[in-house]
Amino acid sequence: MTPLSTIDRLDCSRCEKTYDPRRLAFLCGCGAPLLARYRLDEAARTLRRGALGDRTSSMWRYREVMPGAGEPVSLGEGGTPLHPARRLGASLGLTSLFIKDESMNPTGSFKARGLSAAVTVARDLGARRLAAPSAGNAGSALAAYGALAGLPVSLFLPSFTPAPFFEEAEVYGAQVTRVDGTIADCGRALAAANPDGGWYDVSTLKEPYRIEGKKTMAYEIVEQLDGAVPDVLIYPTGGGTGLIGMWKAFAEMETLGWIGSKRPRMVSVQAAGCAPIVRAWERGDEAAEPWAGASTYASGLLVPSARGDFLILRALRESGGTAVAVADAEMRGAVLEMGRTEGIHAAPEGGSTLAALRRLLDAGWLDRSESIVLFNTGTGLKYPAPVVPAL
Ligand SMILES: *Cc1c(COP(=O)(O)O)cnc(C)c1O
Repeated sequence: MTPLSTIDRLDCSRCEKTYDPRRLAFLCGCGAPLLARYRLDEAARTLRRGALGDRTSSMWRYREVMPGAGEPVSLGEGGTPLHPARRLGASLGLTSLFIKDESMNPTGSFKARGLSAAVTVARDLGARRLAAPSAGNAGSALAAYGALAGLPVSLFLPSFTPAPFFEEAEVYGAQVTRVDGTIADCGRALAAANPDGGWYDVSTLKEPYRIEGKKTMAYEIVEQLDGAVPDVLIYPTGGGTGLIGMWKAFAEMETLGWIGSKRPRMVSVQAAGCAPIVRAWERGDEAAEPWAGASTYASGLLVPSARGDFLILRALRESGGTAVAVADAEMRGAVLEMGRTEGIHAAPEGGSTLAALRRLLDAGWLDRSESIVLFNTGTGLKYPAPVVPAL
């Protein structure tokens, strides 16, 4: 028997409003993102950890706590390795270091998870065209899942985006608009091209389901650790979808009876050239001001203003975590270190987590026996010279 979604409603993340998931819903009227809520008591009857062996290895194995009524628009996203980084760990004096290797996803990044979920719902709701501003990987994933769903896709990419992302958009048949500016300018260009809102806009946190795709990383990690919750998660943060999603997933898993009350300390890593969350964290603020003059070669971290800023900061606070900024050259050094010790060709965003780990070890923030998960969120193959900084 195929399990069904137990989605119940969409709750505003800031005010008391709720929305019906069977209708088109983007942001709350108050401007805040919406979060999907499920009938977890019902889901718990069939979604039992340790009893999912015969299900798909994709993220849709958690069907009860995923959105969408229909057949998923899936390319096999999720089910990525939790790689025990023994050589790298030993070189740092760590006994329990892991890399969640998201470069293994369709289109080479964890954006596949979010867009598989978002496109599944968009198709259910009768979307006729999908659109998004993107710094790269989100656009590639949207283009691929749009193609699979048979829906046309419009992408708005900054003109400095590395060439491989344009190649992917072409291969998947998306229509591309090059914008001279940042991802924020791309968002404005999309809004201008879509004045009547007839296109289905899958911008980060504007629609509620990319979070639901990315949250499955936390479910997988708990399964892969036989029910254990790691001590620390180190996450490269742009819009923060994955961090917000995983924080939500741990709460769901507790209600489902998968885990107890333990939570990992969540660490948000940003680029020194674009670190609005780190700055807000250091000031003790509950929201982040936009970062002026943003720059980093880790295009996934080039998000000067995140819609879910207050949700990211709340997760850091509630988990006892922290936020760290690292320079592009440190990321590059860490990419080489990860490649040479573990055979993983990380994206710079993935490298940033190792650079942050070093900082945290130096600061004595981590105990060397703690279990630590780094997220390599994408493949390094899409960042060719000349964007890679010299060391
Ligand atoms: C988008 C992206 C990120 C940032 O992800 P968020 O969940 O939006 O913070 C990190 N790494 C890579 C490779 C990305 O494509």
